[in-house]
Amino acid sequence: MTRVYSTPNAPVAHLVRHALEAEGIGAEVRGETRAAFVGEIPPIEAWVEVWVPDDEALASAETVRSFVDEGPDAKPWTCGCGETVEGQFGVCWSCGEPAPGPIEAA
Ligand SMILES: [Zn+2]
Repeated sequence: MTRVYSTPNAPVAHLVRHALEAEGIGAEVRGETRAAFVGEIPPIEAWVEVWVPDDEALASAETVRSFVDEGPDAKPWTCGCGETVEGQFGVCWSCGEPAPGPIEAA
């Protein structure tokens, strides 16, 4: 198995997993039990990870890149459900709604 993505935000890890599964890649989310202990262990160790089979790693990297293709500088946006979503995500991690229109890079 190969780790293709990690985030402190477990719902985002699941969105990435769903995106990979939509591509026919059997992804797996790991580390959620550790995430429950945020504050008790170093934060980086509490990150939730998305893992895929080794032979799917290349295709997965492509999917993950397109999923977060706006990059870390993208502006956060506010979803219709009231949730503020980090700009690199095109889908609300709370309710699953897509971002309203193209995301402007900062
Ligand atoms: Zn939402």
